[in-house]
Amino acid sequence: MIIHRKNLLYTAALLGAIFPALCSCSPAGGPVARETRALHVKMPFVRALLSDNHTKTAIGGRSSIAIECYRDGGSFVYYSPKSVKIKAAGGRMTLLSSSGATIETSLERITVSPRSGGRQLWLDGKPYRGMLRVSSGEKALMIVNILYVEDYLKGVVPPELGPVSEIDIEAIKAQAIAARTYTIAHLGQYSSALYDMKSDVSDQLYQGMSVEKKIITDAIEKTEGEVARYNGEFINAYYHSTCGGYTDNIENVWEKEARPYLVSVSCREMCRPSKYYLWNETLSGAELAKRISNYETNLRGRQVTYNRIDSIYIAGTELRSERPGLRTQELVVVANNIRLVYVRDRIRWVVGRSANPNLILRSDHFELTNIRYKSDGSVSKMTFSGRGYGHGVGLCQMGALGMARAEMGYSYRDILKRYYSEITIDKLY
Ligand SMILES: [Zn+2]
Repeated sequence: MIIHRKNLLYTAALLGAIFPALCSCSPAGGPVARETRALHVKMPFVRALLSDNHTKTAIGGRSSIAIECYRDGGSFVYYSPKSVKIKAAGGRMTLLSSSGATIETSLERITVSPRSGGRQLWLDGKPYRGMLRVSSGEKALMIVNILYVEDYLKGVVPPELGPVSEIDIEAIKAQAIAARTYTIAHLGQYSSALYDMKSDVSDQLYQGMSVEKKIITDAIEKTEGEVARYNGEFINAYYHSTCGGYTDNIENVWEKEARPYLVSVSCREMCRPSKYYLWNETLSGAELAKRISNYETNLRGRQVTYNRIDSIYIAGTELRSERPGLRTQELVVVANNIRLVYVRDRIRWVVGRSANPNLILRSDHFELTNIRYKSDGSVSKMTFSGRGYGHGVGLCQMGALGMARAEMGYSYRDILKRYYSEITIDKLY
């Protein structure tokens, strides 16, 4: 079983800690006892950063909570039937009762857990599984949710999927394995940090119990501990909304190293029902010139202005007939007689969508059609006729849903192996 040493040691430190029993000294209505206890989180666990910019917080539970306080190398535990408040105070923290009475001062770290297993905690009104650890930063509190990887996934997978039903169960399982693989592969990624995952899109969007859905929780539980590996290594389980017919090799989309499991595969029309399977974006020459000006201005840090498009074309289009998954590698624009070349996924940022330049082009799997010219020879308008939504690497989510719903009855293993070539699916725990 591959579980990360760092986390093992961390848990051992928590479980092995023995605290001296201390007398009760709680203010009326506040926590009732100060004594010993050991904290539990099932392994493997993940430490998800929830916030690092608040100066105060309130934590409670369904029933009573245990609050472990650390100060100057020592620690002690309170039990409280009510919520408690924590405030940043000069690089340390103050623990207060729900009514605002001070319980302890100058604390360096506080961990809060429910007194009986399986019950949730409330952090500023939002429910979370596992336990919460609050540390004092320079100015604000750092709040980390420490919980069993499987419980974490229950708060990660639902927003990635959108509306799903029972017929989608195999696709949901595939998505759960992709998210689990990402999580386990990234435990300890921020070497000295007190967390493994940020809870925004830079890692995985995590929102605790408030987003949990029963059908997704079931899919996670049915695949407990299963991950995808290539040659024994956790795969980088990229996924996107709609491939538009074929996925692409990772090195054709980003300046990244080729990976044998992230290569172009046919989606076999499985994502055709997606409303993004085919799309068109028509821009005027003037609008594209403006977008290029903005892009170049940001890139160079000085004002750059283009006001006419002399010509526009895609380099290497002949390769498409041999490799139908191939996204646009080079978009060449001649503007004000200057030849500009945009490569791979950058193209999406330069061009944007016709209705809103702040939204990037749905994919870089497109052709240029309907190019029109003005009498002076400049481009008056053009259409980007595209396929799919997203980067096109790895699993196609709409294709996975199509496979799950197909009469063939594809399993989550079939789905994962379709989009990630030559992988194994292994049960780690
Ligand atoms: Zn697809």
